[in-house]
Amino acid sequence: MSYLARLKSSNSERTDNQRTVKTAKNHLDSFGSCHDGHFQKIETDPATLAELEATANRLCEALGDDAERRAVMLEDCREFPPERWPWLIGYLNGEAARIEQAAREAAITDDRRRCAEGANFASGGRCLAAWRGELSGMVSRRYSPAQPERLRRCEGYAPGPNDSDRRQGRERWPGLAENEGVNDGA
Ligand code: SF4
Repeated sequence: MSYLARLKSSNSERTDNQRTVKTAKNHLDSFGSCHDGHFQKIETDPATLAELEATANRLCEALGDDAERRAVMLEDCREFPPERWPWLIGYLNGEAARIEQAAREAAITDDRRRCAEGANFASGGRCLAAWRGELSGMVSRRYSPAQPERLRRCEGYAPGPNDSDRRQGRERWPGLAENEGVNDGA
């Protein structure tokens, strides 16, 4: 289930629990079709759709979502009525900014990194450093990290585009390969 779908689900549950009056719709629910001229203009505005997709991708990037989750997120967004897209763009941007800020703060105090935020993590879940035979120890070339979201120190880590520390794993954590193998997972 995508982040957006989870939000919709949790909002629905909250709404049920609070026994909100049915006519006051959840802000993540559909408001149905609208025939207002302005909304029709938005519906046919490819720039608004492009902005929505870019914003959804930004949030997926911040969340470290894989290709499958990104596809579900984009599908969810496109299912929203066009008149709600401007609101949704603002909401997703806010969520992405919050997660990006949390990641920046965490990066300052924690030197560990996630596979999913590194340049050697393929969209299909494979480790490209292992595939190239760059990891020490008995590591299969078909190695796929079981927990790509877990913080770790890894000799094969290569910084992703959002990592301000541009050092490679072997430079960041010298001696790790001899002492710990592929990564310490700590
Ligand atoms: S195992 Fe190491 S090199 Fe491979 S994806 Fe994870 S952090 Fe990157």
